Amino acid sequence: RRGFYIGRFQPYHNGHQAVLEGIADEVDEIIIGVGSAQLSHDTQNPFTAGERVLMITRALETIDCPFYVIPIEDIRRNALWVSHVTSMSPPFEICYTSNPLVIQLFREANIRVKSPPMYQRESLSGTAIRQRILDGEPWEDYVPAPVVDVISEIEGVQRLRTIAETD
Ligand code: ATP
Ligand code: MG
Repeated sequence: RRGFYIGRFQPYHNGHQAVLEGIADEVDEIIIGVGSAQLSHDTQNPFTAGERVLMITRALETIDCPFYVIPIEDIRRNALWVSHVTSMSPPFEICYTSNPLVIQLFREANIRVKSPPMYQRESLSGTAIRQRILDGEPWEDYVPAPVVDVISEIEGVQRLRTIAETD
């Protein structure tokens, strides 16, 4: 049985990691969809799909469950979105998500949905972590250690600060 989990992962953080560790106990294989794959280099979406694949793959290196990381571009047609996702993904039986729109779209397509709990949502959110990086506040404890390494390797902090500037 395969489970599907989708996010933008800008960046991948400890909340995502905690959810995936839970999913790993329930399924035989995990598919992680990297959403808005075409976006990068803007303040809400600083990292490329490839960089996010790297963060997720490295962070899950020690997980005891096979997984696939699949970039998925936006199609801007919600009525067709589930077909788009399933066309890009290995087959799966269950989708794990807490996003109300995603829940609705998968339910309408008769795909089983399970909503994992939120972990420390105040601090563990991509938005909060991007803001901490911009503000020069410590953020490294909110993401898995390999994600710190990837962001360092790609000079992600400097990128985020530069793209937040105005001319
Ligand atoms: P952003 O603030 O940029 O939207 P995010 O933290 O919401 O980032 P996403 O990539 O949008 O992260 O979310 C992917 C999935 O992870 C969503 O289903 C979201 O509900 C879930 N998620 C996000 N933060 C947490 C958390 N702290 N605990 C559990 N699940 C989370
Ligand atoms: Mg979000």
